[in-house]
Amino acid sequence: MTEPAVEGDTERSPTEAGEEASGSAKERQLAPGLWVVATPIGNLGDMSCRAREVLARADLVVCEDTRVTGRLLRHLGLAKRLFAYHDHNADRVRPFLLGRLAAGERLALVSDAGTPCIADPGYRLVREASQRGIPVRTVPGPSAVIAALSVAGLPTDRFLFEGFLPSKGAARRRRFAALADLDVTLVLLEAPHRMAETLDDLLAVLGDREAAVARELTKLHEQVVRAKLSELRARLGSDIPARGEFVLVVAPPDIAPVVDVGDATELLRQLLASHGLREAVERAAIRTGLPRRRLYELALALRRGEREEE
Ligand code: SAM
Repeated sequence: MTEPAVEGDTERSPTEAGEEASGSAKERQLAPGLWVVATPIGNLGDMSCRAREVLARADLVVCEDTRVTGRLLRHLGLAKRLFAYHDHNADRVRPFLLGRLAAGERLALVSDAGTPCIADPGYRLVREASQRGIPVRTVPGPSAVIAALSVAGLPTDRFLFEGFLPSKGAARRRRFAALADLDVTLVLLEAPHRMAETLDDLLAVLGDREAAVARELTKLHEQVVRAKLSELRARLGSDIPARGEFVLVVAPPDIAPVVDVGDATELLRQLLASHGLREAVERAAIRTGLPRRRLYELALALRRGEREEE
């Protein structure tokens, strides 16, 4: 089988081109610079020929976790020098990597899985390399974000990638409230142990929208469930196990957000069924945009009404 051509080689010097004609080892050299290489998100068969070639020919493979990338390289039959670049050492080691690039080396940047820089480290390295005039090239491939969006069955003409959500409930709800009126599909990453809370908050703040859960994409237990948020919440923990890796895709709003007092009273009635007074008012305020004081009065009136009925 002939080896796939490595794009980007067009920047080779005439000398290298001459060596290519003679078939020397140098013909296999990559052009100098930073190569941003996507790797599989589960199924190793998704590694592209070009990604493998670039990794094989790089002077140094820059990765998040040397154990994770070491396993991938062993699977590919490659023995390469690995260099760890992650959130905890990035600022310290970036000057070293930029120095290597400035010296004309070929560095391949990968993350643990998927496309580097997408909710993964790397963007500052890309930015600073390009600011120094160092060529930066992409070897595109798998990304959980695009993979989930492509099978969610929801509008894809406009979407917003929100990445990982704040872990604290109040901050997460504020984030959702800021997104509530946007006429776009939302793509969110969430850890399995926070899926239940996140679905609860999405329901409370955005209402019962169409959505999809994409779990363990391309892996043995791949699962994509397309349903209303309330149904996804009800099924989480039973036929949607709260295990593995998740992407959540949420449809744009198709109904106007609740704003009038009658709707707000109904919303408060529902919220008071499962939350204390303060929490119900807080959630209703985020959802409706009505003043908290007004909602508090409505909630108190509802509580009084319930007591009188008893
Ligand atoms: N840069 C990566 C990409 O392009 O796919 C995303 C990195 S982010 C740190 C990792 C998150 O992506 C996981 O926590 C999960 O939310 C999601 N993810 C990664 N692999 C996945 C898969 N196979 N199925 C579903 N979600 C996945």
